[in-house]
Amino acid sequence: MSGPAAPDVSQLIKNLIREVPDFPEPGVQFKDMTPLLADARGLRAVTDALAATAAEADLVAGLDARGFLLGAAVATRLGTGVLAVRKGGKLPPPVHSATYQLEYGTATLEIPADGIDITGLNVVIIDDVLATGGTLAAAKRLLEASGATVLGAAVVLELPVLGGRAAVAPMRVSSLHTV
Ligand code: AMP
Repeated sequence: MSGPAAPDVSQLIKNLIREVPDFPEPGVQFKDMTPLLADARGLRAVTDALAATAAEADLVAGLDARGFLLGAAVATRLGTGVLAVRKGGKLPPPVHSATYQLEYGTATLEIPADGIDITGLNVVIIDDVLATGGTLAAAKRLLEASGATVLGAAVVLELPVLGGRAAVAPMRVSSLHTV
């Protein structure tokens, strides 16, 4: 074999994430994943690594909004469907909804209460960033209230200083890169 070894997924993520200080509020260090997702090798590596943690899933739940992109890519890789867990006010009624605290402000997540039946399905949640854990916890509540079993979650990036992993315990969370 010849040529340089491919950088591992954690290194790719580190290289391709843009740090934006004080966005959307002072004091928040926003992690912009746009360059990572726009990079063919980055998207492929992240998709493969997330999918490897979700092999047991019957259904992938992708969280609004970057989790939609990642979740759909992972679902295609696994051969499952994807459920878009949306921010409040986007879906027509009836919906199941859960409101929660975010690193900045509050938010609501919703899924349709009609037209899909996820009872008994094993779901893995996919999102870009684990910060305080409020989003993952709300998504888990929502999916479980709809009759699904949440096997765990997988994220690209974890911000351990915000304590999200402990906040969502005992949910199993895989992260591809920690800062
Ligand atoms: P949390 O509920 O606090 O774990 O926040 C996770 C959600 O908020 C994810 O859907 C992220 O897209 C977004 N988020 C929170 N903090 C950041 C951050 N520092 N950079 C980018 N996205 C973030």
